[in-house]
Amino acid sequence: MNAAAHQWTAAFTTGAVLHASEVQRGEATAWPIAGGVLAAIFAKLPDVLEPAVHPHHRQFFHSVACTALVAAGWKKLHEWQPPSDEGRFLRKIRMIGAGAYLCHLAPDALTARSLPLVGR
Ligand SMILES: [Zn+2]
Repeated sequence: MNAAAHQWTAAFTTGAVLHASEVQRGEATAWPIAGGVLAAIFAKLPDVLEPAVHPHHRQFFHSVACTALVAAGWKKLHEWQPPSDEGRFLRKIRMIGAGAYLCHLAPDALTARSLPLVGR
């Protein structure tokens, strides 16, 4: 999957999830769009850390272990209830970042090379 496809996947997934949660709460804000844009940026992170310059570029930051750590971090953020507006804002940005990272790794896992367990 190329960089643009990773970015569009993360943008649409994040925008759809944020929109669905706003509909559930009876809200309508710009967060689905802003979150989609942020997700498109964050979705590049795995390939910034491990550029796809050769077929075996997928190491730790593209691994099953890293996926599990990011998913665990996302779950912790989801459970966290920050006491301030600033905390809630930062929580949302971090959740979008972690979600976008996972949106990059999920399609990579479905390719023929998939993801290494831990990397080199
Ligand atoms: Zn990648």
